[in-house]
Amino acid sequence: MNLVLLGAPGSGKGYVSSYLKQNFGFNHISTGELIRANIKNKTELGIYAEAIIARGELLPDDVIMKIIKQELEKCQNSNNIFDGFPRTLNQAKMLQDIANVDMAIYIDVPFEMIIKRVESRRVCATCGTMQISQEANGKCEKCGGELVQRDDDKPEVVSRRLKVYSDQTAPLIDFYQSKNNLIKVDNSGSADYLFAQIDRIVKDMSR
Ligand code: ADP
Repeated sequence: MNLVLLGAPGSGKGYVSSYLKQNFGFNHISTGELIRANIKNKTELGIYAEAIIARGELLPDDVIMKIIKQELEKCQNSNNIFDGFPRTLNQAKMLQDIANVDMAIYIDVPFEMIIKRVESRRVCATCGTMQISQEANGKCEKCGGELVQRDDDKPEVVSRRLKVYSDQTAPLIDFYQSKNNLIKVDNSGSADYLFAQIDRIVKDMSR
């Protein structure tokens, strides 16, 4: 089974992915995480991608498709969640040619709320866990590592990413809706409210 998670940057795609992975055994494919791992390891792709990500822009579709195809070869038989992919109509059409999308879950959050959440979002420099922290020198609740702000979570880059999302990714909502393949969840409330909606979707899908 393949699920696509749609939503603006900071809407909670990573959060929902972790929940689906932990509770229902999904395999998490995050193009953002794969690219960040390449940046950390200073691979050819990482060196190329670093400046593009820092500007809040998208990588070219062919680069992303190469990453996705490599990942899919490793996980042909698992239940996959695509997090942060597809991000353009072209990517969605190319995905159609290589895999069946059972459902796209659109995580809806008002932009004002996203801007506030992303401002206090931090990532652990050691284990990569995302956390919300208001403290200046907060420590990771999992491993005690240093919490840092992603360069692309800085306010000026976030507004650029939201614009890129509105222009290039939001049209995918209509794309999946027209195939009767879209389900919307509301993430403007508590985590419990969000996860209750996810539980119901998984339950309905496994009927
Ligand atoms: P978020 O969902 O918070 O925006 P991600 O971790 O998914 O963050 O992605 C971070 C960055 O990686 C994006 O802003 C973009 O530059 C790049 N990226 C990730 N996925 C894609 C994709 N499918 N197509 C193009 N660029 C991508």
